Amino acid sequence: MEKKILPLIVIGGGPAGLSASIYACRFGIQTLLIAPLGGGLASSADYVENYPGFPQGVSGMELVNLMKEQALKFGLEMAYAQAQKVEKEGNLFRTLAEETYLSRAVIVATGAEPSKLGVPGEDKLRGRGISYCATCDGPFFKDKTVIVVGGGDSALQEALYLAQLARQVFLVHRRDQFRGAAYLVRRIEAQSNISLRLNTVINEIVGEERVQGAYLKNRITGKEEFLPAEGIFIYVGLKPNSEIVKELVKLDESGAVITDEKMKTSHEGIFACGDVRASPLRQIITACADGAIAALSAYHYLNQEK
Ligand code: NAP
Repeated sequence: MEKKILPLIVIGGGPAGLSASIYACRFGIQTLLIAPLGGGLASSADYVENYPGFPQGVSGMELVNLMKEQALKFGLEMAYAQAQKVEKEGNLFRTLAEETYLSRAVIVATGAEPSKLGVPGEDKLRGRGISYCATCDGPFFKDKTVIVVGGGDSALQEALYLAQLARQVFLVHRRDQFRGAAYLVRRIEAQSNISLRLNTVINEIVGEERVQGAYLKNRITGKEEFLPAEGIFIYVGLKPNSEIVKELVKLDESGAVITDEKMKTSHEGIFACGDVRASPLRQIITACADGAIAALSAYHYLNQEK
């Protein structure tokens, strides 16, 4: 049976993909969004307080759900599936998911996933005390001791969230300066149940059935310590989910899709937006802006390509 050819497929259901979809639908482009249930990393943020229009803050899940509602209102079609690969077929693109879809243009908004720390014990104890999502797993650690690793916005924000639940939070960062925003650092310093371990790395995470603690080492003094903890939350950066297009478009050394300011990739007809693309700032607002620009570029591409 001949497959229907869609004008545009958007891959990824976070703020970038949903914004691209809202704009594309409003430009009158029939758009199919392919994404698993859920809304990317943004939807796992307990509390978003820097997205304009929400002076009291908003949960990441609520924000993404509102974006989805808005996109559906403009006629977005959705397929809840995990896209595996994008291939070229003549002038068209073939997106392989549970079904195969053909389209004339593709917007890649597949986001990024948390990087691993890469220390012994991490793989073995993942899901057994090691987590990459405080919003998902934090409630399991009520009144317990947890370690948060990292010095960026994610580590700071999630350490503050965990401090509301856990008895004690240890924030372990490899330098003595935080990469995350100054206002978050001030709040961390003012939180009585957060203790800092700066210039410190984790050498090993230990536990049999569940996490029991971690061996730390101070990089300046060389001093080692064993820190008992029931939970370890790892926030050491993001890895772009670019696998599905890596054979078609240019990536940078971190695996992020390289685009120009119009969100065009190195392959005509493929656009990228949000955390999957190489960008100096990864925020919900920049993901949304990227999505809008990608939709406009796709619109021009489809009109010129007709
Ligand atoms: P990030 O900004 O890349 O920070 C990663 C942190 O992990 C850095 O402090 C880094 O240390 C540390 N790190 C990296 N590899 C490590 C290793 N092997 N061992 C120990 N520490 C390691 O990542 P992120 O915090 O996940 O944030 C990602 C993006 O999302 C950023 O652009 C961020 O601004 C954004 N974000 C924004 C918000 C918000 O605005 N509310 C919230 C969350 C995330 P160094 O500092 O020494 O490099």
